[in-house]
Amino acid sequence: MIPKSHPRAISLHIREKLVCGFRDGLVVEEGLLAHGRGEMFDYLIGEKTTKTSHEAIRAAAQALVQAKSPVISVNGNFAALCPKEIVELSRITGAKIEINLFYASEKRKKAIASTLKKNGAGEVLGIESKFATRIPKLDSARRIVDRRGIFSADVVLVPLEDGDRTIALKKFGKDVITFDLNPMSRTAQAADITIVDNVIRGMPILIDACKKMSGKNIPKKKFDNKKNLEKSIQAIKQNLGRMSNA
Ligand code: ATP
Repeated sequence: MIPKSHPRAISLHIREKLVCGFRDGLVVEEGLLAHGRGEMFDYLIGEKTTKTSHEAIRAAAQALVQAKSPVISVNGNFAALCPKEIVELSRITGAKIEINLFYASEKRKKAIASTLKKNGAGEVLGIESKFATRIPKLDSARRIVDRRGIFSADVVLVPLEDGDRTIALKKFGKDVITFDLNPMSRTAQAADITIVDNVIRGMPILIDACKKMSGKNIPKKKFDNKKNLEKSIQAIKQNLGRMSNA
């Protein structure tokens, strides 16, 4: 039991979700460590959705609602943290849901699919070997994708991603949107749109933005990811400056 009054209650609740995901076979040990890296950057950005992240969310929503074949790529951490939101985002944007794991195992894929289905998902791709194919220029298990999903997508949302795969997806011609709390990671730097925010906070905001934009023909605003990332790094610098009176 985490008391509501605990100053770090939200952060502890998020950890609890991941630990449950670990116990249920969705999350691997390495995923818990990756979360720790994310938490550290969350601390540095002030544990809130910044104005800069709101701008990235707006651009991401527009890219998703205007995509022809959008796909949401799901790993263990994402499924443990936001199962309802993944399903809701898929419903609003028409994006397919595909499981794609760095530490792949059939058992884990089944556990993730079952969690998504319990939360209302229809079809979940990335499970049936007869549809499996490869994205070129990538060595990890994540090169295996579903022919009906990521392989033929135009826009792919790949939260909490590793850099190699993001770069391979870019080389393969995909528009990549990511959530990454570390604005300096290779994924953050290589993606077309990086939302520097915790998926827990950012997903509901992205869903709302997609709801507002869907069905409307809003002209596309130019989005400069590098500039947006620079602003997030500046925000970290300012927070550190405030704390050190610099
Ligand atoms: P890269 O290969 O892109 O340089 P990395 O090696 O740090 O990055 P991973 O450890 O594979 O990448 O991925 C974890 C990434 O996800 C980290 O950048 C981490 O900051 C981020 N992250 C972890 N938890 C969350 C979360 N809840 N919300 C958003 N980002 C998160």
